[in-house]
Amino acid sequence: MYANPTYGTSYDAYSMLRYISGKLEVFLKEIGYSARAHVPPVNYDLVMPPLAIDAGLGEQGRNGILVTPELGANTRLAAVSTDMPLEPDKPIDIGIKEFCNKCKICAEECPSGAISFTDEPEEVIRGYKRWKINHDKCYTVWNSVATSHSRGCRVCLAVCPYSRKNNWIHNIVREVDPRDPTGIFSSGILAVQKKFFKYHGGQEYLPPPDGNNKTFNEAPDWLRSEEWFNY
Ligand code: SF4
Ligand code: SF4
Repeated sequence: MYANPTYGTSYDAYSMLRYISGKLEVFLKEIGYSARAHVPPVNYDLVMPPLAIDAGLGEQGRNGILVTPELGANTRLAAVSTDMPLEPDKPIDIGIKEFCNKCKICAEECPSGAISFTDEPEEVIRGYKRWKINHDKCYTVWNSVATSHSRGCRVCLAVCPYSRKNNWIHNIVREVDPRDPTGIFSSGILAVQKKFFKYHGGQEYLPPPDGNNKTFNEAPDWLRSEEWFNY
């Protein structure tokens, strides 16, 4: 999320995941079980978000992405499949769906209009009720952001209030919100969020005539290919 969408650093996270899940795979094999690491964006046979939801890591947000209590939508996932007997975890409910019902920030900021504005989730996919995402519209933007050094968009991750920094004030909000059955607390927090956190506007990242090919932050060193090659 370093400077999305123009300079996504997802690959930093995926590199770490490859390291961690690779070691776990070898460890499980060492103690006598079969094991296989699955790490996007290559070499994986499992779709991660549904597994993560089943495992209780978070809920699916309006943006179609796993939203976790600790990191919001700013997560990258990997898995290790194994025949080791394990006690499964259960899905959690920490009020993210209720918050998404009111929030809609990702839908407002999405440059392609791919995210649904309906109050309630409107489709059921393999038993899971979720908001509709127009994948074609989304992927068209992924491929059109001109300065994207690691192709993508991810505005909907960056603007999600759950992706705010893991500091004391946000931790208090995360603790209090699920414990307030009236929803008054989340409405107040949302009003503060919309008033004080200003976004560049997802549309700005698009090429002309729809946008201005904007980029707002510098790439990390290793992604500044223009400094490594003359082309
Ligand atoms: S990645 Fe970008 S285009 Fe796709 S849904 Fe998210 S904000 Fe919209
Ligand atoms: S931006 Fe708001 S509506 Fe979108 S996923 Fe995050 S909390 Fe839900």
